[in-house]
Amino acid sequence: MKDFKDGDLQRRVSALRERGEEEYVEAMAPKYNLTYINLLGTPINPEALSIIPQTTATEAEAVIFEKKDKTLLVGIQNPNNANLAQVLDMLKKNGYAVEGYYISRSSFEHALTRYSDKPKAKAEKKGVLGIDPNTIAELATTLKTQANASERLRAIQEASDPEKVTHVLETLFGGALAFAASDIHIEPEDDVARIRYRVDGLLFDIIEIPHNMYRLLVSRLKLLSGLTLNIKDEAQDGRFTLDVGDRNLEVRTSVIPGAHGESIVMRILDPKTAGFRFEELGLNTKLQEVMEEELKRPNGAIITTGPTGSGKTTALYAFLQKVHSPEKKIITIEDPVEYKLPGLVQTQVEEDYTFASGLRSILRQDPDVIMVGEVRDRDVAETVTQAAQTGHLVFSTLHTNNAAGAFPRLTDLGVDYRSIGSAYNVVLGQRLVRTLCPHCKKPHALTAEEQKIVTRIMGETPTQGTIYGPEGCDACGGSGYKGRIGVFEAIRVDDAVAEAVIADPSENSILKAAEPQEIPSMQQDGVQKMYDGITSFAELERVLDLYNTGKAPEEDANDDSETDFSDHIV
Ligand SMILES: [Zn+2]
Repeated sequence: MKDFKDGDLQRRVSALRERGEEEYVEAMAPKYNLTYINLLGTPINPEALSIIPQTTATEAEAVIFEKKDKTLLVGIQNPNNANLAQVLDMLKKNGYAVEGYYISRSSFEHALTRYSDKPKAKAEKKGVLGIDPNTIAELATTLKTQANASERLRAIQEASDPEKVTHVLETLFGGALAFAASDIHIEPEDDVARIRYRVDGLLFDIIEIPHNMYRLLVSRLKLLSGLTLNIKDEAQDGRFTLDVGDRNLEVRTSVIPGAHGESIVMRILDPKTAGFRFEELGLNTKLQEVMEEELKRPNGAIITTGPTGSGKTTALYAFLQKVHSPEKKIITIEDPVEYKLPGLVQTQVEEDYTFASGLRSILRQDPDVIMVGEVRDRDVAETVTQAAQTGHLVFSTLHTNNAAGAFPRLTDLGVDYRSIGSAYNVVLGQRLVRTLCPHCKKPHALTAEEQKIVTRIMGETPTQGTIYGPEGCDACGGSGYKGRIGVFEAIRVDDAVAEAVIADPSENSILKAAEPQEIPSMQQDGVQKMYDGITSFAELERVLDLYNTGKAPEEDANDDSETDFSDHIV
């Protein structure tokens, strides 16, 4: 008998074991009505493989190893797998014919390793699960109105096409690009599911679909996003990318369970619509000067404030782009990273990497500029303050209504009020208002009441220009608005403000101290943008508190303002 070296012996034993496994699988195949195949000697087509994501393949214990026209050859490792039937069902509903093959564990694992070496660009170009990027790109230019999109969706549903779901999705993504929608919502109700777009911050109904179509959409989107199909009672988050023309769209999917089924929200991150250019934020001349000076300083904190969706992060990204230069090291910690910016190190909050602990790690990386997504708690507030005092330029956001509100908030969070003057440079307040559609806006005369409000906000500041209101046309999908712009205010932390924070950190005292800075309030900035024909009175009223001027109240006019205020409480 021949002697084997250890290595040889192991190889031989494992070869025997593999052969035994293959023989067993081959013998069992007829029981499951499947044909046996050994994938170790079979070419695996990366295009076929990428039709289902790796996570789905792993869960279903099945891989697609070849595609011939609309026929998929599927290697099945465990015919009793609970997820398998759903995946196969899905493929059939998407117009594919499925030929099932019984494969061994070794074959299956071998096929899974091929996911990592599939050519990425190619896989994206062919699209995940048959969605055609060219169709999406074409629809992005041909769908003119939201009504066009609704009509097309209705027509698809009425046709008897096995690839309905594909076409619905292509239309939804094409429409989202055409109207620059930031999110697509799919919300199941009693009898139907509602599909809506969020455009310029507002939701618009697109179509109602029957429940059977809804269920197909949910399954397909979960597959696309790499989520677990048969988990239906838990929230899940996933993502996928669509390579549409020259843009690489990232889609973040969030699924939450509800009484009538799972609700899906897809956030579409389109690097093309997000320019993050400082010059395009909509800063008024005064504020642009202020910010240009502030961004040249080597240290200190710059804070933007506002509620969720007020454009705080966009402003910070624009500031980061503005200060970015090759000799500066910029590190961010975000929750989550929304857009990848070139030349920056961007990190994301995780379970063991919080804003506070992450920031401390970042400081050890010797950065020049740091962005911290949000000052949420005492720990972060203190670390941001220290970082700003030790030679770093720090950007962050605070969840307050206006710029003045940041000061009492910081002291509430435990920041020593005596250190605010040395650590903080400037605080911005902001909101996003929709801009009037240039194709259909029409002159609008203010009512006496509106005029009174405007006069009170502007005080003695002269204003002139034509005021416009919304009308609605094909170019704006009938809403009268297209795009959004920021309305801003800011308070620089100069000596007067720093002293006011120490003496009395109330909003009024801060506003009073900041008066000599002559920076318009958000309300004043908004009214100016209305006189510039950029936005409307109705839009300002929707977004801003117009019964507040955003400036310190006149001391001798206290009674008046109280009367005015109570007039409006009905
Ligand atoms: Zn229009």
